[in-house]
Amino acid sequence: AVRGANDGIWDWDFKTETIYYSPRWKSILGYAEDEIKDQPNEWFSRVHPEDLEGLKLDISAYLGGITTHFENEHRMLHKDGTNRWILSRGISVVNDDGVATRLAGSQTDITDRKYAEQKLLHNAFYDKLTNLPNRALFLDHLQLAVERAKRKPDYKFAVLFLDIDRFKEVNDSYGHMVGDKLLIEFGQMIASRMRSTDTIARFGGDEFVILIDDIIDESNVTQIAEWIDSELANPFLVKEYEIFVTVSIGVVLSDIGYERAEDILRDADIAMYDAKGNGRAKYEMFKPEMRVRVVERLEIENDLRRAIENNELRVYYQVIGSLNTH
Ligand code: GH3
Ligand code: MG
Repeated sequence: AVRGANDGIWDWDFKTETIYYSPRWKSILGYAEDEIKDQPNEWFSRVHPEDLEGLKLDISAYLGGITTHFENEHRMLHKDGTNRWILSRGISVVNDDGVATRLAGSQTDITDRKYAEQKLLHNAFYDKLTNLPNRALFLDHLQLAVERAKRKPDYKFAVLFLDIDRFKEVNDSYGHMVGDKLLIEFGQMIASRMRSTDTIARFGGDEFVILIDDIIDESNVTQIAEWIDSELANPFLVKEYEIFVTVSIGVVLSDIGYERAEDILRDADIAMYDAKGNGRAKYEMFKPEMRVRVVERLEIENDLRRAIENNELRVYYQVIGSLNTH
C-alpha cells in the first residue's frame, strides 16, 4: 500500500527519535531510497526557513491537544535546488498512559495547486496586458492611505488619474496590436519613475492611475505631472512607427479630507474630464466646484432627454424673407 500510494508516508518514533520515510517521501524531494536516513533532521533541515516555525507550532499544537489533527503546508528544498510545496498530515499513537509515542502521517506534493492558486490570486489583482496592479488592488492601497491620513494629520498623498488623449486614433491608424504595445510601454515609462511606495495601476482602456505616497506639498505632484508631459515630447517606438501621444491628468490631494477611496477616484476622474474639456494634454487639480458642474451637466442631460419624450421643446425662429420676391 505504501509503495502504491502517490503520497509519501512518514512515521516518527519519539522513543528512538527516528523517522521512517517511505520511498515516495524521498522521491518527492528527488532522492533515492539510500540517500535519506531516518533522522528528523532529514525533514526539518529541508523546510523553508519562513515555514519552519509554523510547521513546528502545528506539530506541538496537535501533540498538546490544542488541535484535533496535525496538518501543515510548507515549502521544502528539492534535490534540484527548487522549492516544493508539501502538505503534511498526521495523527499520534498514544500508549496506555495517554502519552504520544509516535506521530505518523502522509506527505503530498501540492506544488502545482499552490502555483495555480498564486496565479489566480495574481490575475485577480493585476492587469493582464501591462502586469500593473488593477483597480481592485489600487483601491486597497488607496484605502490604506486614507486610513493613514486620518491617523496622522501631516501625512499627505495624491492621486493622478491619467487618460491618453485620442487613443482610439492610435488603434485606428496603427492597429490594435500596436495600441496594446503602446499601453505596455506607457505603463513602463510611468512605473520607471515612481518610488516603490507609490502605486501605479491600469484601470482598463487607456486609463492609468497613480497613488503618490507621502508628499510634502502640491509642488511634488505638479512636478510629476510636468515630468510626464515632458517625457511625452519623445515618441514611443512601436514596431517601425514613432507615435506621439499626450495625456489628460486629473489630480486630487488628500488635504480635502476623504473617508473613502472611491470618492477620491471619482473626483480625480472629474478633474481629468475637466482637463479633456480644456483642450487635453494638461493636468487639472480637483476643486469641489467641479463636482457641482458635473452634477449640473448630468441634470441638464437628463432634463433634455425627458424634454424630448414629453414634447417640452419649443422652437423659436425668425423668418428670413427675400425683399425681391416677398
Ligand atoms: P479621449 O481623448 O477623449 O480620451 O479619446 P480616446 O480616443 O482616448 O477615447 P477614450 O479614452 O474614451 O477610449 C479609450 C479607447 O482605448 C477605447 C478603445 O478603442 C481603446 N482601448 C480600450 N482598451 C484597449 C486595449 O486593451 N488595447 C487597445 N489597443 N486599445 C484599447
Ligand atoms: Mg483616452
